[in-house]
Amino acid sequence: MTESRCALVTGSSSGIGLGIADAFAKRGMNVFMHGIETADAVESQRRKLADESGVTVLYRQADLTRPAQIRELVHDAEQAMGKVDVLVNNAGIQFVSPIDEFPEDKWDTIIALNLSAAFHGIKAVLPGMKARGFGRIINVASVHGLVASPYKSAYVAAKHGIVGMTKSAALEVAEQGITINAICPGYVWTSLMEKQVPDTAKARGITEQQVIEDVLLRAQPTRQFVTVEQIAALACFLCGDEAASFTGAALPIDGGWSAA
Ligand code: NAD
Repeated sequence: MTESRCALVTGSSSGIGLGIADAFAKRGMNVFMHGIETADAVESQRRKLADESGVTVLYRQADLTRPAQIRELVHDAEQAMGKVDVLVNNAGIQFVSPIDEFPEDKWDTIIALNLSAAFHGIKAVLPGMKARGFGRIINVASVHGLVASPYKSAYVAAKHGIVGMTKSAALEVAEQGITINAICPGYVWTSLMEKQVPDTAKARGITEQQVIEDVLLRAQPTRQFVTVEQIAALACFLCGDEAASFTGAALPIDGGWSAA
């Protein structure tokens, strides 16, 4: 059923978003990719997805800490593909620091990108989804939307916030063929993950290897990183007709972390 569906995936120039864009394209969805990087920097990935899938794959740069750029991104995706059936709010960043040393500009940026951008994106796509009577919105939250870790106050606040917004928004559109869910991954080895290892080592006074073994993998009972492909498969499932009764859910995919 996903043939001819059109998806906008924010933060799909790398990591989890790229994996979701790739999986969507391979299932026949047209995909509008997005990232903070220039179109030139992402062109080889865009072309690869388009060539391997045969669907339309487009890309646009936008800074999602700026609401006007989010509205322009959605507008351009709707113009280019004719509609946005699926919105994946995935773009996000991390910053690790004790709260009493946490830089205020980092707090503002994380709340803007990891929380407020999803609000602006949902607000912009909903009129079209309501008019067509179909929509799938997936917010890539985190296990940190369900439980906390120290030194990640802004990230944990934003991710808990996006889980709450997911529930509220889902209730509003539940009778209109639109589902809104949050995916809550545990640790996935991406650039976001890799970049936080040195700061976590500093904040905890341990080595980077200890961060990987004693902090990251210890959190997950499986002792395995979650993979991009596993998250992409869940996102694909949520887009299908079989998932029509999943809405307002915060779905952990965390190797058992939130169960412990
Ligand atoms: P990543 O660093 O690989 O990708 C981040 C994406 O966000 C990139 O496409 C980048 O272009 C985009 N981005 C960064 N700053 C931006 C800005 N100002 N405006 C617009 N786009 C911007 O990271 P990832 O690990 O794939 O993370 C993707 C999402 O998954 C994030 O929301 C993150 O919180 C969440 N997540 C990641 C993990 C993990 O362990 N990696 C775990 C749980 C949740």
